[in-house]
Amino acid sequence: MSRPTKVTINLDALSHNLSVIKERVKGSKVWSVVKADAYGHGLSCVWPALSHTDGFALIELDKAIMLREQGWVGPILLLEGFFKPEDVYLLERYSLTTTVHSDWQFDAIEKAQLERPINIYLKLNSGMNRLGYRSDVYQQAIARAKSINNIGSIIQMSHFANADTGLNMDAQKAVINQAMVKELPRCLANSAATLFYPETYQDWVRPGIILYGVSPSGIWQDIADFDLQPVMTFNSEILAIQQVKKGEQIGYGSRYIAERDMRIGVVACGYADGYPRHAPDGTPVVVNGHKTQLVGRISMDMLTVDVTDFPDVTYGNPVELWGEQLPVDDVATACGTIGYELLCAIAPRVTVEVMINLPNSTFSDLNESC
Ligand SMILES: *Cc1c(COP(=O)(O)O)cnc(C)c1O
Repeated sequence: MSRPTKVTINLDALSHNLSVIKERVKGSKVWSVVKADAYGHGLSCVWPALSHTDGFALIELDKAIMLREQGWVGPILLLEGFFKPEDVYLLERYSLTTTVHSDWQFDAIEKAQLERPINIYLKLNSGMNRLGYRSDVYQQAIARAKSINNIGSIIQMSHFANADTGLNMDAQKAVINQAMVKELPRCLANSAATLFYPETYQDWVRPGIILYGVSPSGIWQDIADFDLQPVMTFNSEILAIQQVKKGEQIGYGSRYIAERDMRIGVVACGYADGYPRHAPDGTPVVVNGHKTQLVGRISMDMLTVDVTDFPDVTYGNPVELWGEQLPVDDVATACGTIGYELLCAIAPRVTVEVMINLPNSTFSDLNESC
C-alpha cells in the first residue's frame, strides 16, 4: 500500500466558494485565479468544479493551453502577460487574453502577422511598483494600444498591494481614478479587495486564495464571516509511538528536549511532502481529532507530535496537518508565513484524492481526468 500522506480536495467546497464570491460581486464578472497549479490543488482536476466562472486567470502559458485542450472555451487571462515575443502566436492560436505591462510587449504584438486580434489587459502601476505603466504615461499606453490593429478589446487593470490591511488603499485608488479613462472597462480586485472593498469590483474581479477557502491576510478570523469553506485537507497517519523520558531529545539538532516523560507520535509527513521545515515547536496539528502540537524539527519524511495527554492515540490514527479541522492560516501563522505559500508547496509525491459529494454534481465526468 502507498504511504498515507495525501491531500484531499473537496470540489464541492471549491464550487461553493465561487458561488459565494459571485453572489457577493453580483454584476461584476469573475476571473477565477488558478495560477501555481490552482494554488497547489491540481488545476487539471479542479477546474471543472469552477466552470460557473466567467474566466480563468493564471500565469503559466502551458497551463493555459492545457485548459483549452481539456475543453475550456471561455476567457483565459495571463496575469503576467507573455514572456517572449514569439508567444504572441500562441495567444492568437489559443485565444488567450494577455496582460500588457511593457513596451516590448506592444512591439511584439504590433510586429506579429496575425489573423485575429488579441485582447489585452493594460496594466497600471498604481503604487505597488511591480508591473505596469506609471500613471503619467498610462493614457499614452492606452493610445498606443488603440492604434495597434492586432489588439482587440482593451481592459484597464491594476493590482492592490495592501487590500488585506487597508494601508495605502486610498492612495492607490486615487492613482487609479486619476489615470484610468471612463470609457474602457476595469479590473482591479484581488481576494482581499473582493472581501473588503466593494467599490473596487468594477467590471471584473480577480479572486484567488478565497476560492480555496483561505484568508488573504493570513489570519483565519478575517474570513470567518464569509461562508468560505476550506478546499484542501492535508492528512497523514501515525506511523509509530515513542515513549520518551524527561530530558531526552527529539529529532535532528535535538531542538526539543522533553519537559516530562512523554508519548511522541511519529507522523509520516516531512518537508519533502511540502510541510514547512521551519515550523517551530508548538505549531498546531490535529491527531485523531485532538488538537496538539509539533515537537522537534521537521525531517524530510517525518514529523513528531506530542500525544502525551491522549492515551487513545495509536498507530494508524489520522493526522490532519491542515484543512477542515485546522485552518491552514493557523499553521502558516505559527510558521511566520501565509496560507498561500503552504498550499503551493505540496510536493509531487503526495497522493491527491478528489472528493465530490453533490448527488447531481455537474462535474462528475471529471474524476477520470485525475
Ligand atoms: C495572484 C493574483 C491575483 C489573485 O490574488 P489573491 O490574493 O490570491 O486573490 C490577482 N491578480 C493578480 C495580478 C495576481 O497575480
